[in-house]
Amino acid sequence: MSSSNPTRTRDDWARAAAQLTPAQGHFIGGRSVQSRAGATMPCINPANGQLIAQVARGQAEDVDAAVASAQAAWRDGRWRLQSPRQRMAVLQRWADLIEQHAHELALLETLDMGKPISDVLNIDLPEVLRTVRYFAECIDKLDGAVTHTAPEAMHLITHEPLGVVGAITPWNYPMLMAMWKLAPCLAAGNCVVLKPAEQAPLTCTRLAQLFVDAGGPEGVFNLVNGVGAEAGQALALHPDVAKITFTGSTAVGKLLMAYAGQSNLKRVALETGGKSPQIFMPDLYDLDAAVDRAVGGIYDNAGQVCNAGSRLLVHRSLYDAFVERFVARTQQTYRPGDPLDPTTTMGPLASRGHQAGVLKRIALAQAEGAQCVIGGGSTLGEEATFVAPTLIAGATQSMAIVQEEVFGPVATVQAFDTEAQALQMANDSIYGLAASVWTSDLKTAHRMVGALEAGVVWVNCFGDGDMTQPFGGYKQSGNSRDKHIDSLLSYMQTKSAWFNLV
Ligand code: NAD
Repeated sequence: MSSSNPTRTRDDWARAAAQLTPAQGHFIGGRSVQSRAGATMPCINPANGQLIAQVARGQAEDVDAAVASAQAAWRDGRWRLQSPRQRMAVLQRWADLIEQHAHELALLETLDMGKPISDVLNIDLPEVLRTVRYFAECIDKLDGAVTHTAPEAMHLITHEPLGVVGAITPWNYPMLMAMWKLAPCLAAGNCVVLKPAEQAPLTCTRLAQLFVDAGGPEGVFNLVNGVGAEAGQALALHPDVAKITFTGSTAVGKLLMAYAGQSNLKRVALETGGKSPQIFMPDLYDLDAAVDRAVGGIYDNAGQVCNAGSRLLVHRSLYDAFVERFVARTQQTYRPGDPLDPTTTMGPLASRGHQAGVLKRIALAQAEGAQCVIGGGSTLGEEATFVAPTLIAGATQSMAIVQEEVFGPVATVQAFDTEAQALQMANDSIYGLAASVWTSDLKTAHRMVGALEAGVVWVNCFGDGDMTQPFGGYKQSGNSRDKHIDSLLSYMQTKSAWFNLV
């Protein structure tokens, strides 16, 4: 994977962006199609408010067409009946094509979502490639079982794909969150209909075309653009969809479970919101290193990260030194700027509406008596959607800023006196996606890992991991896991075949 090309300047990227012609349709049956009713929706560049493209806005009839296309591909077996090695080869070629189109995809992602281009090239795209290649490699590593029986019987346990899977994904890592669903789903032999987030759909449409270019049969990977309450809801209610796999907010996750109940009891796999605590114990071994990671844990991707470490719980003995270093490190590292500039480390928020919501939460925290140590407002002009990196002190457990997901560059910092108090504060949340503990004592770390109500816990680090790490939450952060071979199995169902040999 080529990393950010240091010889490319902001102007080079801007010139390349001007040459792009983003695909604007849905992707159904291997080709780009417009909405049946002709409806469209705008894609806006959040860094400057300019229109990038008008893309198709799907309704129920468009979802019906996409599901019918996927269902036809499922029924005739053009994908699931290929040998594991053939499917593996298609996914490997898909990864190669994504790599070859890295610059185009990075530009589309940056224009559509506002993510700094260096982040797309150095973080998102390498992760996307690792994901496709990992699940491609897993395809022929899965076994069934032959159980112990009497001689006159034979019992096989096999894993089969589910059928048509609907994937509904968010805008914060548009390609990567989609790929965490697509790669295991397709590797397992399913057909898929993806509904990407309406705020940033452009790269996902390219991924669909590249799948076909890689030799993926038409109709196996379909995509319908549109808004959640229209195309998303239609997909989640569809009687021919066997599973909905979702990443997004907890509120929408709850709706999806209801839609499954109202329709066909389809499986619903949810990766939802978070409010992750980072706990800094008094014996941590290196305050500078801990602060460094804490800053990245909240401000990477402008805080638009489900597992963002948005609650900093700091032992009182460290509190003043921690805050002082945190502020200095933030000011050194995170400068909001033009996301097409390769030196930019923080882009705008993904949309005007989201920026307004984040600023409202900061204002509410101040009205309730908390204070902004840094940040607290928008920055870099009216036409863009930037929010300055913000640290809030003086918040109490019951305040909305501590309890509710902000999904922006906003952290709270709170002091604690004892381990029990830290754990109580950490677990006092409807969410349980991730947490971190900083301590030099292994026993303390082990005890706290066991006590933390979170699906992912980091010790003396934040955000580390690889494809072997099951990623997902406890409590209202979700009910499933992305990554890891378990994710591949979650797109399959178990069949028991009992043979009477008499
Ligand atoms: P969102 O829930 O508003 O939207 C996510 C997707 O759901 C979009 O494609 C949207 O169109 C669709 N949708 C909205 N309403 C729908 C409906 N009624 N029926 C069907 N689909 C509908 O979330 P968002 O604002 O795009 O993303 C931010 C959220 O995603 C945050 O809460 C964040 O924590 C979460 N997230 C979680 C993870 C994880 O792995 N746990 C990863 C990334 C983001």
